[in-house]
Amino acid sequence: MILGSHVSFGKEQILGSVKEALSYGANTFMFYTGAPQNTVRKSIDMNLVKEALSLMQEHNIDVNNVICHAPYIVNLANDLDDTKYNFSINFLKNELQRCEEIGIKYIVLHPGSSVGIPKEKALDNIIFALNKIITPASKTSVLLETMAGKGTELGSTLEEIKYIIDGIENQDKIGVCLDTCHLNDAGYNIADFDTFLNDFDNLIGLKYLKCIHVNDSKNVYNSHKDRHANIGYGTIGFETLLKIINHEKLKSIPKILETPFIGEHDDDKDRIYPPYKFEIIMIKEGKFNNNLMNDIRSFYKKD
Ligand code: FE
Ligand code: FE
Ligand code: ZN
Repeated sequence: MILGSHVSFGKEQILGSVKEALSYGANTFMFYTGAPQNTVRKSIDMNLVKEALSLMQEHNIDVNNVICHAPYIVNLANDLDDTKYNFSINFLKNELQRCEEIGIKYIVLHPGSSVGIPKEKALDNIIFALNKIITPASKTSVLLETMAGKGTELGSTLEEIKYIIDGIENQDKIGVCLDTCHLNDAGYNIADFDTFLNDFDNLIGLKYLKCIHVNDSKNVYNSHKDRHANIGYGTIGFETLLKIINHEKLKSIPKILETPFIGEHDDDKDRIYPPYKFEIIMIKEGKFNNNLMNDIRSFYKKD
């Protein structure tokens, strides 16, 4: 089982990410190279990379399973503002460069939102931009994330994802990241995951599937909302998520939790706790923990 979570990338950059992942008992992780909601980025400190790689080796984290996530404000779909569009393209070029410096094979990208232009044009803009970003020399592949279809978000259907992939010149550098919450909210019945996976294979091809974001959903099927819930505490449910994680055909694919922190919506911001250590235990044991929130609170409250 290749299982981890989203972790932060702070003062110690990727070394901090590795330490955080290890504290959760994870054997992979996903990070942003800075704050996910902005594009302020520091250059990569190669000494920290070196230390991080040796710590990973020591703890059997394969760098090939580690995922980067592009900031979600980057939008390759809309070209109404030339400056913004070009900024997004250049930013992602540099982001790929940063991944290559660290040795990261995959970067997950939200395809984009059309906001005010026709869908077809928006999809073509994404293709145009990606063909500027991905070159034959690229060592990092871009993974298109399947989206919930909130607002004018693109990539909420497999057909749209396929349309983008078909337009990419260097197809060995493009892939797909499934997000279980997004699939549910987009209207895919993942309770019958074998059928979904067959459809995916027939339309896109399983070889493109490189990462899975495992999240429960706060909203019902087909709601187009995108609010993640803790594993087993949403409308998808523990059994379905467990079946996906343990699926025979997905064994070699990294699974990343992006579930909400406990107490996130409370007023006391000093008391928000990451759920990942306990969600990972629950998943590995294959048994739902109906006391998850309390276990997390009492574990972290000690220090
Ligand atoms: Fe995402
Ligand atoms: Fe996701
Ligand atoms: Zn989401």
